[in-house]
Amino acid sequence: MLENLHRIVNQVNIASNLREALSIVVSEVRQAIHADVCSVYLTDRTSGYNVLEASDGLHREAIGNVSIPLDKGLIGRVCREASPLNLQDAPAHPDYFLTAETGEQSFHGFLGVPIIQNRSVLGVLVVRRRSYDRFSDEEVTLLFTLAAQLAGTIVNARANGELLLSQEERESGGLLLSGRSSSGGVALGTVVVVFPEADLAGVPDRSTEHPELEEDSFRVAVQAVKEDLQTSERRMAGTLPKEDRALFNALILMLESESLIQNTIQRIHQGNWAAGALRETIEEHARIFDQMEDIYLRERASDVRDLGRRVLTYLNRDTSPIIDYPAQTILLGEEISVVQLAQVPPDCLAGVVTVTGSNTSHVAILARALGVPLVMGVAGLPVGRLERRPAVVDGYRGRVYLSPPASVWAEYSRLAAQELQLSQELDNLRDLPSQTRDQTAISLNLNTGLVAEMTALGKDIADGVGLYRTELPFMVRNRFPSEEEQRENYRSALEIFHPRQVTLRTLDIGGDKPLPYLHLQAEENPFLGWRGIRIALDRPDILSTQLRAMLRATIGLNNLRIMFPMVSGVREVKEAIAQLHAAQRSLREQGIEVALPPAGVMIEVPSAVYQCREIASLVDFLSIGTNDLTQYLLAVDRNNPNVSNLYDHLHPAVLRALLQVMDGAAHCNREVGVCGELAGNPLATPLLIGMGVRHLSMSSSSLLPVKWVVRTFTTAACKDLLQTALGCEDAAGVRHLMQQEFTRKGLSGLLRPGK
Ligand code: PEP
Ligand code: MG
Repeated sequence: MLENLHRIVNQVNIASNLREALSIVVSEVRQAIHADVCSVYLTDRTSGYNVLEASDGLHREAIGNVSIPLDKGLIGRVCREASPLNLQDAPAHPDYFLTAETGEQSFHGFLGVPIIQNRSVLGVLVVRRRSYDRFSDEEVTLLFTLAAQLAGTIVNARANGELLLSQEERESGGLLLSGRSSSGGVALGTVVVVFPEADLAGVPDRSTEHPELEEDSFRVAVQAVKEDLQTSERRMAGTLPKEDRALFNALILMLESESLIQNTIQRIHQGNWAAGALRETIEEHARIFDQMEDIYLRERASDVRDLGRRVLTYLNRDTSPIIDYPAQTILLGEEISVVQLAQVPPDCLAGVVTVTGSNTSHVAILARALGVPLVMGVAGLPVGRLERRPAVVDGYRGRVYLSPPASVWAEYSRLAAQELQLSQELDNLRDLPSQTRDQTAISLNLNTGLVAEMTALGKDIADGVGLYRTELPFMVRNRFPSEEEQRENYRSALEIFHPRQVTLRTLDIGGDKPLPYLHLQAEENPFLGWRGIRIALDRPDILSTQLRAMLRATIGLNNLRIMFPMVSGVREVKEAIAQLHAAQRSLREQGIEVALPPAGVMIEVPSAVYQCREIASLVDFLSIGTNDLTQYLLAVDRNNPNVSNLYDHLHPAVLRALLQVMDGAAHCNREVGVCGELAGNPLATPLLIGMGVRHLSMSSSSLLPVKWVVRTFTTAACKDLLQTALGCEDAAGVRHLMQQEFTRKGLSGLLRPGK
């Protein structure tokens, strides 16, 4: 049974369009289950019909031409109830609806199972028999399991196949695909497909008589790729500061690594030509990364393969093709490397779309730093057929519209124009104070980790840096940055903002933020595992180096605050503070005198919420990390797309936890800030003010929208709204309440899709 299932699913996966996929399903299932008929009806909610899309056993002419209203027949019933229906004699059932043109009159046994994805019925898979027999439990199980397996395949096949529809259909409907939102914003433009410049996997082994010549051309090709990377790095110089461009150096280091170069040369001298030797070496390296559990390291496999292709390109020919980038380029590809992204002139780059890749990949980090919308993980993207197509990238909702109909294009043009207008209007708020109508000051700070974000908008309008994620400078390297490298990095952040305060958070790795050069054992539940302060305390060498670098960076500036992430109890806080004292002592022993800066912790684990009074008494300030706190309180992985609809920081339970922290901190008279995404969501601003929060930290794009909200409300109104919100049943209720309030107050321009 399982064998049949696998075979069918595999065949469907390689089908070139939806029709072909479905016809494979019906003929294979009919055979596997020994039925007289197998059909698939697809549910079309726009037209209100279940449409017979494929059948083995019913009249051929009926396929594509028989549509049953959603509220009619046995198919309609399976679809409505979203549960299987197994009947001995279908025509005797009160819901039976005869579609004579299919020739179904002579069939009695009926089994229909719904095909469901994300609570929505996509269609119905049906088998029929002439005999008056119910289908056996085993047959029901097979069909049921198959329908579950097929749901995802149908979604993909639909996406793949729809581009093969007729020209008119395509022009009128376009193609809507979903992925993961990796960088917000909206872009309208023209697709430029980027692809591997050489197919490394297709390179054959070939023997060589002249290994020295092969070695020479390999070395020349490596040098040429290195120069390309250096050129790309320089090209980004106007857009990204040196610190963020370190990732190009990381690629160069990988390219020049002893094992990569020497293994290839060794293979050349064993008799393979340069291209073949390169393929073997690259595959060997990439496979090692591929097998790693951890997403960040798996991403490095793409980097290795990309480097291999680049070297191969130079082995094959001398120059890379020159691409003519349109003014609004939507860069699209199976996977896109930072080098490919950097090749687009920054003025032309409007949006990016990829099939693979994760939010921790270098491309994602770079796109966010450049403020370019990025949608990743778009399954079923028919990359090969999209060159120069018009496209819309909705980075807020993780959607891509290819050849969109005029109405969609117009709608998004309107949205983009609104964004522009809003940003111009918001610009008027730049120099106005961030205070409520009753003059309560709310400090608005910046969340950052890349120096690029500090030099832009945020620098002028933020009151300081509320969260500097120090892991990003660690992640773009191939090794731990030295104490001096760290000091320089922190120093530039402190200098840019001086005399405003900059809160540097100690390394928060593990969970979804691995480091390529720190071995993290594969864990069943990395978010509940070795991460954040746990790693820092277990590796005092890493923490003390970082703390020394921070303390040295603030000499003469004194605008540093240090913050520890992920603490789950009092003991960890005591140990972390002890480490800070030890770092100060070790500097003193070297004759470097530094005053202790204010030290704080993040409250982002439920146990810390319940101990926050004790914790607050040990530190100078608290900062609530609502991203992690939400995932732990709601038991929803913040990166899991299957439950992303449940991950919502406006949940009343999250609001109550925040209130509890405010309460605990008030007891010790400690400052509390919020630095998770919630702090940058304008809908939450009145609620946070209502509970007494006076310090918010967010990404630069949220600073002015949040300031607008701050200036619109009084603290009394905020308190009232908070009381109502706390009584809501769920996050949707809170969102609805706030949206209504925003509309009433003339803030509807701030209502963003999906927020
Ligand atoms: C948080 O968890 O809310 C937070 C700000 O930290 P990070 O998103 O870096 O985990
Ligand atoms: Mg966190």
